[in-house]
Amino acid sequence: MLSSEEVKRIALEVGFDACGIARADALTDEEYPLRGWLAKGWHAGLSYMERNVEMRMDPRLLVPGARSVICCVSAYPPPILPLGKEERPEGGWGYKPGVAAYAQGREYHKVLKDMLFSLRERLGIDGKVCCDTVPISDKHWAARAGLGFIGRHTLLVTPQWGSWVNLGEIVTTEECSEYSEYSEYSEYSEYSECSDNPDFCARCRRCVDACPNHAIAPSGPPMIDVSRCTAYYTTHHERPIPPGHVTAGYTQGCDICQLACPFNR
Ligand code: SF4
Ligand code: SF4
Repeated sequence: MLSSEEVKRIALEVGFDACGIARADALTDEEYPLRGWLAKGWHAGLSYMERNVEMRMDPRLLVPGARSVICCVSAYPPPILPLGKEERPEGGWGYKPGVAAYAQGREYHKVLKDMLFSLRERLGIDGKVCCDTVPISDKHWAARAGLGFIGRHTLLVTPQWGSWVNLGEIVTTEECSEYSEYSEYSEYSEYSECSDNPDFCARCRRCVDACPNHAIAPSGPPMIDVSRCTAYYTTHHERPIPPGHVTAGYTQGCDICQLACPFNR
């Protein structure tokens, strides 16, 4: 059995900012909204989302006999902060205008995967390393592991870094000594608009109002109509940007809804 404390300690040592561990069960509460989103066609050209829905919702189908999902968070600088000098390549470059904050630094998939492989090696375990290319609902697992909650803009919101985070997981058959629970409401109570929290966002709808393309569902489970989202058109180039769509100058990703969020102050 793995010591959960040890797993979290080593995760920080390999470079992650936070780590939580969830028991590998089915995401039963989360499956219904996912299927509703697909039924509306709001996944647009992301046809891969239609495949492996069961696996996406149950890591035991991804890794037979899985017992634990080790969830890791890597925070990145928000767009209002210039990148540190040490982050700039030789010759130097500043902040790239029109590029979302997550894409300003090194290609995060490679960075996170390397850290996840290091973590797995140092723990001496087998396990599936996941970082965006594996059918697993990373943000829901991070929420289950107590690392944050899913905001109305559909991203994981952490108490420390808001939604300026990337996520990666290791799904393993190893049992861990302790499993995390959903985050405590008290960590978010600083914000009055979020204080009566049935869903943490409570009465706040700032991201909904901020989105220039009305892509974010104002009520019901957090959902985005991808066919209205700039981040989709600027990172999945198979579809042209439709007439009337407002990119607000973004050419890769879009930070507008995150910038509106009080948790990202
Ligand atoms: S990323 Fe931009 S376009 Fe997409 S939902 Fe957020 S604000 Fe709207
Ligand atoms: S802006 Fe408000 S509604 Fe949107 S994710 Fe943040 S707290 Fe939730």
